[in-house]
Amino acid sequence: MRSIAIINQKGGVGKTTTAVNLSAALARAGRRVGLIDIDPQAHASLHLGLNPQSNVPTVYDLLTGDTRVSELWQRAGSSPTPTSSTPTSSTPTALTSTAPTPNNPTEDNLLVAASHIDLAAAEVELAGVVGREVILRDKLAEAANQFDYVLIDCPPSLGILTINALAAVDDVFLPLQPHFLALHGLSKLLKTIGLVNERLNDRLQLAGVVLCLYESGTKLAAEVSHDVEQFFREARKGGRAWSAVRLFETRIRRNIRLAEAPSFGQSIFQYAATSPGAEDYRALGGEVLAYYAGRALLEHAAA
Ligand code: ADP
Ligand code: MG
Repeated sequence: MRSIAIINQKGGVGKTTTAVNLSAALARAGRRVGLIDIDPQAHASLHLGLNPQSNVPTVYDLLTGDTRVSELWQRAGSSPTPTSSTPTSSTPTALTSTAPTPNNPTEDNLLVAASHIDLAAAEVELAGVVGREVILRDKLAEAANQFDYVLIDCPPSLGILTINALAAVDDVFLPLQPHFLALHGLSKLLKTIGLVNERLNDRLQLAGVVLCLYESGTKLAAEVSHDVEQFFREARKGGRAWSAVRLFETRIRRNIRLAEAPSFGQSIFQYAATSPGAEDYRALGGEVLAYYAGRALLEHAAA
């Protein structure tokens, strides 16, 4: 199983959009994918049509109670219209249910562990708990053979929730928006990855950077892409947890369909299969699969 945390302590850079649509792309390529929403805002859960009012346990119960991860998985829900207020139309299909999932026959192998607003209190509730940084890691262990890929959509902070994600995964993907402040704050993020690598999880590495909300054809986007490459070329030299980082070639262009899809509770492939957004996330999915295939060869050769 490959495990990936999508992190950036800045909001609005494309974490959730990438977590959801990359998960969907990998699922459509036939992989078994688990998406864990560890952001109290529950944007990824909502994006895939999961109703936070459902009685299926959430990541909150996982981190603060005796709940096992196997109790959390849900298939992406039916697709409520944005104005719809009928709760039945957005009731998620629990994994244990035998109900069909007519709206997403080809994303059946994508399961979601939903978030809940209560997760916002986890920081305080877990304050006195011994080993609070590794709860997710320990609980996720039982799912290792169930999935080919597990992705975690993180909140815009470097608190206990993001630390739980970093302690649980092998790889970090970092979405960046080509913006003149894109690199601002990155050293704090790298430092956090480095500390978690040293103290909690020695497999952790920053594997990839994804440029999101890309305005193709603009001078700014080209300049920032260049700066990002330069920054990581320098950063690679230290032999640290980010020394093997790559900038994925796929650029996720700014595309209104990507911003519309969440209100329909659908991945971009369900909502607008032929849009540039779908095209870009399909390409990113292909690039990610090729990247891991390459790594598997190297790991095999080294073993
Ligand atoms: P984060 O999870 O980092 O806060 P989001 O993925 O939620 O960021 O993206 C922030 C906002 O930008 C959302 O409204 C989302 O729908 C929109 N968005 C993300 N990526 C794109 C894109 N490539 N094109 C257009 N809108 C996008
Ligand atoms: Mg988000």
